[in-house]
Amino acid sequence: MHDPDSGVSKCIEFVLTVLLGSDWLENEDLRKLIHYGDAETCPIGARIIIRRVDTLWQYEGGPVPFELPLEKLEGVPVLFGEATLENKAGKLLVGADIIASSYFLLTRFEEITPRELRDPHGRFPGDESLPYRAGFLDRPIVDEYGNLLRSWLKRIGVALEDRPKEARKVYLTHDVDIPYRWHKFTPARRESVWRFKHPGNGPFMDPMLNFLGWKQNDPEDCFDWMIEQDAKLQQAWGRDRVEVIYFILTGGTVLPDGNYSIKSRLIKRLIKKLIRSGAAIGLHTSYEAGQRPEIIENEANRLREVCEEEITLNRHHYLSCREPEDFEYLLKAGIAHDFTMGYPDVAGFRLGTSRAFSWFDPVQKRQTELTVHPMTVMEVSLNLKTYMGFNYEEAYAHTMHLIDQTRRCNGDLNLLWHNSNLTPDLAEAGGYHRNLYERILNALANKEPGMERAEGGR
Ligand SMILES: [Zn+2]
Repeated sequence: MHDPDSGVSKCIEFVLTVLLGSDWLENEDLRKLIHYGDAETCPIGARIIIRRVDTLWQYEGGPVPFELPLEKLEGVPVLFGEATLENKAGKLLVGADIIASSYFLLTRFEEITPRELRDPHGRFPGDESLPYRAGFLDRPIVDEYGNLLRSWLKRIGVALEDRPKEARKVYLTHDVDIPYRWHKFTPARRESVWRFKHPGNGPFMDPMLNFLGWKQNDPEDCFDWMIEQDAKLQQAWGRDRVEVIYFILTGGTVLPDGNYSIKSRLIKRLIKKLIRSGAAIGLHTSYEAGQRPEIIENEANRLREVCEEEITLNRHHYLSCREPEDFEYLLKAGIAHDFTMGYPDVAGFRLGTSRAFSWFDPVQKRQTELTVHPMTVMEVSLNLKTYMGFNYEEAYAHTMHLIDQTRRCNGDLNLLWHNSNLTPDLAEAGGYHRNLYERILNALANKEPGMERAEGGR
């Protein structure tokens, strides 16, 4: 049967659930107070009318145009509609279409309009995104719309509890791209020979002894230190609020993959150690599977075999989950939680929200069981010259600013630091991530706001 609505009502329901959470799902009286449409079609009992703009609901292809700078309603940028709010005969008329604006961001709508805009890794470039170009990537504006809507509901007399200005949950996550430096014969032999010829650079046999598994002082191996650092925050905030996740590569045959084998004794031992520390293990979907998502299920099963436990968490290597609907393949692979959603080149709120939500497929217009955990920051976005190119203080200020924005919206922190950027070797060579990571965790543990300096900044 032809559906004249074409699934739009499902899209609207999805957005209102994200904006108001359980208050929307469970409070029948509250639902009757909000009307999405115009004043003429407004039911008698509705008191908040959000004027509907049909740009997305009747979308027929091509880029969605925006005129920059965007108008702001109560300080929040508006993507569709007008930045107006009127009180007329006891009804609040909202000119800003915060429903379509949220939908655009939450579903990565601009990534399918058109699809050609991709970087050399097939990813949508963050610096081409509307949030970046319009200057609000550092603000979870969907959460801010939610707060506006709650404030309007309160204004008309609905009793709603204030959300605490605290992060709900912290995910300390680590992608294990290069667990060890000397676990393969060629690099181990090369280093041993070099040390033999250049005395004073450490025992020359160490690399080969590491390769043979007789010694364990590989310079890449800083997992004990990471476990210790992460545990400090868990002790301060409680294990129920701080979850540690290591994402492990299990497949891929193209160049950025294949640094280690999940079947090797060394990696199996590492996984056991991480599990013993209380960390969760997730799948680091390979670069190749970013190109061919149909192989994700195999990769997940390989990890299940080694861990002998259910694997339901995922993050894509290189953050290269290319097309929005590729999430379907995660569901098929038995994945329930994804942690990929940040732009590699610019840190910020790619989906406009800091709060985990159930993914909605914009192509099939279908609500799904996949929980998307928006990324707060990935460390290499901060320092790489081709990305943000921040020095140590700038990187700290920007990260604390994003943390502060998350706190204000009672969101979730999803921090990504690779083990390979936390080694003492790299710190000695001038890399700042080991110090930065420790400083950020300390600031969180001590509940230091840390945002005074960042507030006026980025
Ligand atoms: Zn990776």
